Amino acid sequence: MPVAENALRLILIGPPGSGKGTQALQLCGRYNIGHVSTGDILRRNTQKGTSLGKHAEEFLQAGDLVPDPLIFDMLEDLYNRAGGEQQGFVLDGFPRSESQARALSDFLEGRSQSIHKVLLLQLDDDVIVGRLIHRRTCPKCGRSYHLQASPPQQAGVCDSDGSTLVWRPDDHEEVIRNRLDTYHQQTQPVAAYYAQKGVLSSIDASSPISTITERITRLVDPLVSSV
Ligand SMILES: [Zn+2]
Repeated sequence: MPVAENALRLILIGPPGSGKGTQALQLCGRYNIGHVSTGDILRRNTQKGTSLGKHAEEFLQAGDLVPDPLIFDMLEDLYNRAGGEQQGFVLDGFPRSESQARALSDFLEGRSQSIHKVLLLQLDDDVIVGRLIHRRTCPKCGRSYHLQASPPQQAGVCDSDGSTLVWRPDDHEEVIRNRLDTYHQQTQPVAAYYAQKGVLSSIDASSPISTITERITRLVDPLVSSV
């Protein structure tokens, strides 16, 4: 059954370095839905001093798994952010385990709702490592460069403000491989859960950003009814 485009409920899953954040923003713009990322939710709750915010640090140290009692706080929060009952959203960074996926299903079923599509961006680990180890970041303005694809005009120096670029610890191979291992361990059961529900689609994310966006919209457009 087709849905109104601004009621679309999507989940975007992808490894670090797959361009997931960029695609999430594309989806929000195209379908007029809210972008909900766990990082944003945690930051906002930390600023507001909520119980979820107070647990944020604990949550981050626990390797990105939200303690179960906080899952529903988080769902309420993201729902409010997404504009309440009428509006759709794209989730980015959640759910990260099968139990979180089940909690999300229960939460939505309580509102006679469900997830319409789960998009899994797939990219070879070696390709991701190749992208991230060549990334250099400006500590002042946050701009990032790729040593081969988009190098700074002068080696090691930010084009915008002349600061010395840094190779962040996060972008070293061993750390990237560890993050990818964690990602695969967490993602496989979540992907299997949604595959069983018949809403999972895998997308080859090795192409340019615009090609990936085209692939995604080709999958999502048919779900939408023109109002
Ligand atoms: Zn800079």
